[in-house]
Amino acid sequence: MTATATRVLVLNSGSSSLKYQLLDMTDATRLAVGLVERIGEETSRLSHTPLAAGGEKRETEGPIADHEAALKAVGAELTADGLGLDSPKLAAIGHRVVHGGLKFTEPTVIDEAVLKEIERLVPVAPLHNPANLTGIRTARALRPDLPQVAVFDTAFHTTMPEHAARYAIDVATADAHRIRRYGFHGTSHAYVSRKTAELLGKDPAEVNVIVLHLGNGASASAVAGGRCVDTSMGLTPLEGLVMGTRSGDIDPAVTFHLKRVAGMSEDEVDVLLNKKSGLIGLCGDNDMREIRRRIDEGDERAALAFDIYIHRLKKYIGAYSAVLGRVDAVAFTAGVGENAAPVREAAVAGLEEMGLAVDASLNAVRSGEPRLISPEYARVAVAVVPTDEELEIAQQTYALVSA
Ligand code: ADP
Repeated sequence: MTATATRVLVLNSGSSSLKYQLLDMTDATRLAVGLVERIGEETSRLSHTPLAAGGEKRETEGPIADHEAALKAVGAELTADGLGLDSPKLAAIGHRVVHGGLKFTEPTVIDEAVLKEIERLVPVAPLHNPANLTGIRTARALRPDLPQVAVFDTAFHTTMPEHAARYAIDVATADAHRIRRYGFHGTSHAYVSRKTAELLGKDPAEVNVIVLHLGNGASASAVAGGRCVDTSMGLTPLEGLVMGTRSGDIDPAVTFHLKRVAGMSEDEVDVLLNKKSGLIGLCGDNDMREIRRRIDEGDERAALAFDIYIHRLKKYIGAYSAVLGRVDAVAFTAGVGENAAPVREAAVAGLEEMGLAVDASLNAVRSGEPRLISPEYARVAVAVVPTDEELEIAQQTYALVSA
């Protein structure tokens, strides 16, 4: 790497999508952002915004056969802006990888052995890791000379103690099949817990934070002195909070019942719990904006869905307060956490005895900046802290390759 190589390309590769951001790490500015959707279909779409040039979003539609074609199309867009992937200014490519198991506790420079290990984890992340691997292989083929770094969604949670990470099932069976709680959204929980400490003017090592990452997928984590001690997602992202389309916690016997009594197949149960449950299963909508609009119009199904969502959230705030012993801050982040003031208000309502309260006028402020929304007198800070997983991936990648 040359001293002038300061750019990092962040890639988040899904089964039919490729999200990317190009950042300059001298001042952490975003040079370009974009997304390729519906890869492999006739109606693939690339949207690209060259932020560096102050440029407008450009959209192109037409078939993009596979991830290789997608990355080449992204490369062509970047070249048109003078930001090509062949530029000597590009220092590294950082890849989001969903499952790193127990082995990957840190961002890791990718080589053949690392690829093999990510592959070995496919049985525990059948939807995500194959797509992530495709993205990595494509990028390596295009720039084999460039360091490529994997940043794992599970890494931040590898500090969880055994008593939080183990399910109470037969140990031999669990170990034979690598069944344990891994947790996800780790990059976001790491970033937001650190930013929350910054907002309080403290060292992350001094503060205990409950992070509530409420996007379409949602998870909570208990972070003690900068280290994760518990998180709500488990072996897969299905456990924990009520999400946009996932049920979160249920009695596992519900699945036996669906198979034995309702005659559903394994795959049907999987789709039911991951895609047709949560808010969408409860009321037919998974967008919190739409749910709030319906509640304002007196829709009872939407109101019940909202109440179930909040009830689960409160249970986790209570549980993680007990796990942490002392809570310095509760931080809301991601699409719902950053934007839905009624969710924040309801999640904390009635928890004054626990030192938690929200100031209505502070909560109503709309801003992209980290901010406190609790009143001066509150014992526990309540914060809204916008997450930035791409920046965190870029920073971790750049730190590793420039060390
Ligand atoms: P993902 O998990 O897909 O990364 P995001 O963190 O982008 O999700 O969150 C998406 C969700 O955020 C949407 O489904 C919607 O429920 C919610 N959301 C986004 N903007 C708002 C808003 N202004 N008010 C309420 N909810 C919002």
